[in-house]
Amino acid sequence: MKVTAKYIPCECGGKANKQTASRTFKQGCRGSGTEVSNIPAFVCEKCGEIYFDGPSVLKVERRLEKESAIAG
Ligand SMILES: [Zn+2]
Repeated sequence: MKVTAKYIPCECGGKANKQTASRTFKQGCRGSGTEVSNIPAFVCEKCGEIYFDGPSVLKVERRLEKESAIAG
């Protein structure tokens, strides 16, 4: 689902505004994570819940998979 709105309603009743957030992606069972910042996401101004924009996160995950495949 592609979200084009500037904000989405949060479960808590607050408003999640579109901005960027960072997230640590775990690489399988290796235990180490790669932190990726500036991912488009919706962050609730009331409770702080972060809703990542699906397609963006998938894109990042695919990129990381590619990089780890090259590394080894
Ligand atoms: Zn909320």
